[in-house]
Amino acid sequence: MRIKEDSIREVLEKADIVTVIENYIPLRQSGRNYLALCPFHKEKTPSFTVSREKGLFHCFGCGVGGNVVSFLMKYDKLTFVDAIETLAKKFGIKLQYESGYYQDEDKELELLYEYSLITSQYFHKNLLETNEGRNALKYLQDRGIELTTIKAFQLGYALSAWDGLLNFIKRNNYDLEVFEKLGLIIKKDNGEYYDRFRGRIIFPIYSVIGRVIAFGGRILEGDHDQPKYMNSPESRIYVKGKTLYGFFQTKDEIRKKDAAILVEGYMDFLTLFQNGIKNVVASAGTSLTLDQIFILSKVTQNINLIFDGDEAGQKAAVRTIQLMLQTDSNFKIVNLPENEDPDSFILKFGEDKFLEIIESGQNYIDYIYNLASQKNSLSDTNSKLKVIDTLLQFTSRIRDELRREIYAREIAKKFNVTENSVIQKLNKYVKNFANIEERQIQYQEDIDTHTIDKNIINNVSPLEKSILKMICELDHQYLGTIFEHIDENDFINPLAGEIFKVLKSHYLELKEDEKIDGQYIINKLEKEELRSILSDALIEKYKISDGWNEVQEVSNQNIDFKDVLGDSIKKLKIISLNKKIDDLNERISKTTDLDEAKNLFEDIKKLMSLKSFYQKNEFVID
Ligand SMILES: [Zn+2]
Repeated sequence: MRIKEDSIREVLEKADIVTVIENYIPLRQSGRNYLALCPFHKEKTPSFTVSREKGLFHCFGCGVGGNVVSFLMKYDKLTFVDAIETLAKKFGIKLQYESGYYQDEDKELELLYEYSLITSQYFHKNLLETNEGRNALKYLQDRGIELTTIKAFQLGYALSAWDGLLNFIKRNNYDLEVFEKLGLIIKKDNGEYYDRFRGRIIFPIYSVIGRVIAFGGRILEGDHDQPKYMNSPESRIYVKGKTLYGFFQTKDEIRKKDAAILVEGYMDFLTLFQNGIKNVVASAGTSLTLDQIFILSKVTQNINLIFDGDEAGQKAAVRTIQLMLQTDSNFKIVNLPENEDPDSFILKFGEDKFLEIIESGQNYIDYIYNLASQKNSLSDTNSKLKVIDTLLQFTSRIRDELRREIYAREIAKKFNVTENSVIQKLNKYVKNFANIEERQIQYQEDIDTHTIDKNIINNVSPLEKSILKMICELDHQYLGTIFEHIDENDFINPLAGEIFKVLKSHYLELKEDEKIDGQYIINKLEKEELRSILSDALIEKYKISDGWNEVQEVSNQNIDFKDVLGDSIKKLKIISLNKKIDDLNERISKTTDLDEAKNLFEDIKKLMSLKSFYQKNEFVID
């Protein structure tokens, strides 16, 4: 299904770009624009600029730019359709669809989503309506999961037969291959299929915007020759380490509270959620990854990690600490009493006690210190040194020097040694750790998959940029002149020419007196570089002094384009003709064919006379 163009226009009209972006990063008004530190590259002074009137953003630091839709696509890693649907939901717009697909490739993608949804409905029905499923339902309810929670998270059940889902697919004539790609059925050597999930409680896994993308399956108690948990394999719509269970349902609450509680399992998540802890999220299915932390840290920097009170929980905590230190998040470790997990704890002690224990969370230094003293590892000097050493190795993973130093001082205080000796040793580890490739890789991931080469934007001349800007800002009556004289080959920069072509074909569809809408055009530009070039051309650039105080507009882009239109056309034409003439001259110098040389010379003559036409013409436009 495709979203109708009218609906897309409505979304762009109503979805205020400032309101949307403000939800993610703090914006500060400055003149007619808003400024922020760019979320797509590391910077100390803000060059990320948002224009409400134009509906566009552009970062003058790294070059990324676009409209409200491209922001969501980039920030939340959404597809175009997902971004439009998210905005429509937020601004109460009812979208209209039409048949057809966007591209061939998207057809498969849409099917993967569609079949995932159908499968989750199938599993859910099994749980509620089959005899076998009722058994599983009872098990869930015995463990305290209520029916409303089961419905809200669409929990399901996979029948124990080898062909439960398979028969359902065949009965409905769905495409088996698509289910195979989702990993829901597996092909045998003889070409037959069988179900991956059998006799398991099913937890559908949702994407950030609420589409079913995979499943987790848990055996019922007492079925011990099978792994307890099993997950869908990765597919085009599901990347394991980049998905957090429940995040779709809880991200608004996490944002509101500016804090998240991170647990490990599906059941932990559901029990906490059901008992009033709504800012929870689970790493379910994998051990926590840096990607998952980055996804979370876009919503909050305050993360509470909960671990079971047993040996395995402590090990997991120590491993997670090392990971967390590589991010800039503010994290605390919450240790549950022995033999408790979040699930059992909240059922036994209730919400208030749970919140209390969250409050008691420790930073990693206190956590390791207490753990060591519990294990009696602080009794002699050698053991003490070992603990300090471990802490310093962990601390060396922090990227920010100042942050490292603060923790180093805390370690010194805790163990009653001098700050100097601690910092010296720390710096040794920092050097070592810096050599580890891992650090570089992670750092690159951190600054996002941003790929624009700034030179691409700089290579578009100011003249070319201002012509693109004119086309987007001038009234309809003036545009005819531009398109009459200029075509895309007149642009020295081919990317600018590509944008021009899109603008022109859009212009040809416009009604008399309709203006070109730059915000809308951005959607039509498929390449990221093109969006960057256009948003760069359309948004005014500001210079900001250190410390956010002074803001000055540097470029003088507030000129009336009517006055310079003729002159700009003339300049571009002459530059373009000169280049074409040069090219032909070059070809003449190389050819040995007399006839060809003669033809080329004729061509040059034509171009020369055209050039003198533009040189003489004054282009008074009114
Ligand atoms: Zn940037």
